Amino acid sequence: MSQLYYWNYLREQNLWKGLKVLFQRLELEPVIRLNPRVAIKTHFGERGNLTHIRPQLIRRLVDLVKEAGGKPFLVETTTLYPYKRFTAEEHLETAAINGFSQQTMGCPIVIADGDGFEEVDVPMPNRLADCPFEQVPMAKGLLEADFLLAASHVKGHIHCGMGGAVKNLAMGCVGKTGKALQHRSTQPVLCEAECVGCGVCVQTCRCGGVELADGKPRFTDKCLSCADCLFHCPQQALRWPENYHDRFISHMTHAAYGIWNHFKGRTAYFNFLLDITAVCDCCPPAGSPLLEDIGVLSGLDPIALDQASNDFLDKGLVRANACMPEPPDRFGKLYDLNTNHQFVVGEKLKMGERDYRVEELSL
Ligand code: SF4
Ligand code: SF4
Repeated sequence: MSQLYYWNYLREQNLWKGLKVLFQRLELEPVIRLNPRVAIKTHFGERGNLTHIRPQLIRRLVDLVKEAGGKPFLVETTTLYPYKRFTAEEHLETAAINGFSQQTMGCPIVIADGDGFEEVDVPMPNRLADCPFEQVPMAKGLLEADFLLAASHVKGHIHCGMGGAVKNLAMGCVGKTGKALQHRSTQPVLCEAECVGCGVCVQTCRCGGVELADGKPRFTDKCLSCADCLFHCPQQALRWPENYHDRFISHMTHAAYGIWNHFKGRTAYFNFLLDITAVCDCCPPAGSPLLEDIGVLSGLDPIALDQASNDFLDKGLVRANACMPEPPDRFGKLYDLNTNHQFVVGEKLKMGERDYRVEELSL
């Protein structure tokens, strides 16, 4: 059974102090002194997103790592989809606009996959039969880290229900090849009857992933499966594949496992259950939060932490006028999928366990 710690935002409010209490309770100082180069992995938010983790809270973690003897740096990676974080340069500019710069954070900010394809394969000692890849293309900049601290925003996600630590490890710590591997199961499917051959999908794609052949789109081997063309098709002729969720979730959890395994015993996790929106921080904007703020959960086991986070969402207070499905697995119901598949797969991979106990901390 994994031990987790909880700072109750509704009861205690003071997250500035709460993060210190959580950090100290995790007893990270000895391991950070031995492994001082600490990569703090968070999500800076897409340009226009207002509900990502607030920069002040990440700055607090940066300072706590420094107090523990560490040399922190913030890491992020480029996106698959072609918005304002597609290249390292665009991502750094967006990060600064959203409040994350070297000046505000007090430490370097590294886009760890460089141009998007600076990756290094890391092994997965365990693998389930449905996973087509054998190694995980980790963002190369993470080789500079001795320790990984994942600061993850808990919110809804169209492909995996709830996104938390597993999602942050899986999609956030790999380059474009690694993201494409996980997203292969979400490559759009053409409904020929609806397609008028307008070519908007071809113009939308920034990587030559689709071309017109005989007046109809055909995906090329450059397609990264980002699905941006699906959102732009004026005829809604591009659709999600059928029954892809469990495959996507399994592949995502395998990628998280590869990253977790690389840093085995040198990781810690903070899940921020604040500004709990239906969609993720890649969305500009992500809409109003659906639940009241819950607080911060932390621990050393990402599976237990995400399982607990999903359970906490079930107990959360629905905000006035918000439309939120009934428990259990509220976000799973919202997207007609099983969020808990992440934790089932993670447990089978021996990345963590679903059983947990939570200690609520206070000043
Ligand atoms: S944007 Fe849609 S309708 Fe136009 S060519 Fe592409 S799939 Fe067909
Ligand atoms: S073809 Fe569509 S799914 Fe593939 S990379 Fe281009 S925009 Fe993304």
